[in-house]
Amino acid sequence: MGFKEKLKYNTNFRILGNFYLHLNLLKKQSIPSNWREDILTPPLKIGKMTKFLISRHYLEGRYAKGVKSVAWVTSGAPVEILKALDYYVLYPENHAAICGAKKIAHKISQEAEKYGFSIDICSYARTDIGSVISGKTPVGKLPKPDILFTCTNICQTVLYWYQALSHFFKVPLILVDTPFLYEEAGQHQIEYVKKQLENMVPTLEKVSGKKFKVKKLEKVLKLSKCATELWLKIVESGKNVPSPISVFDQFIHMAPIVEMRGEKRTVKFYMDMLKEVEERIKLGIGAVKNEKKRLMWDNLPIWHRLRYFSEFLAEYGVSVVFSTYTNAWGELYSMIDPQRPFESMAKTYLHPILNRGTGYKLKVMEEMAVEYKIDGIILHSDRSCKPYSMGQVDQRNILTKKGIPSLLLEADHNDPRTFSEKQIENRLRPFLEILGV
Ligand code: SF4
Repeated sequence: MGFKEKLKYNTNFRILGNFYLHLNLLKKQSIPSNWREDILTPPLKIGKMTKFLISRHYLEGRYAKGVKSVAWVTSGAPVEILKALDYYVLYPENHAAICGAKKIAHKISQEAEKYGFSIDICSYARTDIGSVISGKTPVGKLPKPDILFTCTNICQTVLYWYQALSHFFKVPLILVDTPFLYEEAGQHQIEYVKKQLENMVPTLEKVSGKKFKVKKLEKVLKLSKCATELWLKIVESGKNVPSPISVFDQFIHMAPIVEMRGEKRTVKFYMDMLKEVEERIKLGIGAVKNEKKRLMWDNLPIWHRLRYFSEFLAEYGVSVVFSTYTNAWGELYSMIDPQRPFESMAKTYLHPILNRGTGYKLKVMEEMAVEYKIDGIILHSDRSCKPYSMGQVDQRNILTKKGIPSLLLEADHNDPRTFSEKQIENRLRPFLEILGV
């Protein structure tokens, strides 16, 4: 650890940065001037804290190099092992989503496309690679990784994406291969992943220069489990009529569960968020004023149009109360067992929705349609996230046949270049008419 780096880390992040961020927390949360108060309840007060946590995370990253070992990881990677070794962990997907929400992802992606990366590749991957090549980022500066860690439980794209990063940065790449599941994982599959998790420890120790302690991992897992369970309760608050939050709220406040699992502050954050949500339930406050119909959202958010969708639907009194995507970050909490750290991590990280057959997702949608009193479903057919979009045509047909009006809506989670508001409206309006609003 260099003296200069440590000094910078302590001065700029720990003292000045933290002071500035805490000062901002004291300010009253302002409601955006163009907020549609006629149709939407003002944003959750916890929003200030979400901003604080995200800013703090990226600020630490800016000064982490040389003080902590830095790992870049995929969103579905068993990050708890890294946390137990005190790595600073960066999630390129989350960074890409920030670029998307700030409407600059396509410009950054073009840097990767100029380099030869096809426009058909996942727009998260293009945004990340474009940012690496050009240095463009809305968060100041990203720390260079000391190690890369990818897990194929969300898709195969991440394997090739991280290979490209590994060539670029010339740092080791750890791959955890998770067999695709058509049913629940068998013991042999759990063993196969468990072995890989155990085998990565020596490399992680070598890169970090720290000794792995299983007790520390158990502690981190406990925190992860706790935050994940809280998140699920927040998602489940959507069962209330009216729903106190919409999936657009969930998309905004899911960052800590993705990139800060295994931390005490994440548990505290979701405890506070749940409290605020419960308060809304008690008072009968819905995210959409005058909620008339309730929808489900399938697939990733369209980061560059969150506000647009939220307002467009709220105009009709439509609240989107459940999403397969945000649910995925909570539904596996009961599999985490801190007393059996490696085995339970192997099991948990084998079961994300994206690592399972399309029949599983259909089953979740059917069950949740009942539990959340759903009137219709929007299936976002995401042009550059193929694994999540696979099977959606059949899913739409089956759901419609079973009496749940379902609409396939074509867009891209991070790249706005093929998005046309007019076309989307032409698809949404007749659908809402079918719903009777
Ligand atoms: S292809 Fe889909 S699952 Fe894979 S990284 Fe991109 S958005 Fe995530």
